[in-house]
Amino acid sequence: MRTHIIEATNGELNWGKFMVGVMDTQDWRRMPMTPGCDQGMPLLQARRWDVTDIWVMDLETREGAVFRLANGDPSGALNKHQIWVCPLFEPFVNWLFTQPHEQILMLALPDWVDLPDAVFAFKGHRRPGPMVTMAAIDSGPVVHILYHGVTHCGMVAPSSWPTGHQWVARDDGHKATCKGCIEAQPRA
Ligand SMILES: [Zn+2]
Repeated sequence: MRTHIIEATNGELNWGKFMVGVMDTQDWRRMPMTPGCDQGMPLLQARRWDVTDIWVMDLETREGAVFRLANGDPSGALNKHQIWVCPLFEPFVNWLFTQPHEQILMLALPDWVDLPDAVFAFKGHRRPGPMVTMAAIDSGPVVHILYHGVTHCGMVAPSSWPTGHQWVARDDGHKATCKGCIEAQPRA
């Protein structure tokens, strides 16, 4: 991974420190090494990483998330993560998305950026994470297929799953209800 550290301010109020990371050629070529996990393609590709996926780490809270530039909507993407962030994290990610994507992927970024419109706050906060609608709970749990700690549909680790999500092992794949997991099941 190639990385670049940027500081951000909103005048003289808050001081944000972030690291932007982009997967390098070696990462993209890396094949799965676990027996039975080889899908004939590199690990990142098999787990549906995109070339425009960037990792943004808050160097104050030591927490961060991966954002897909190609999808736009950085605030929407941030809402999927229950991460602890400093007051300038969201304004910084929003600013980042306005930069030319080729420039971000080359890490051709400044060392410091001032975001004068970013709202001041005394301290950071934990993002609330995804909202689970009552309809989703009423329709029963979404059951994913879990293999070596990863779901076939690409949902993240069980510890951060929203309420109403469960999982079964690959051998019990017939009990799964997640459409993405069922479709992504390797053909025997
Ligand atoms: Zn799933």
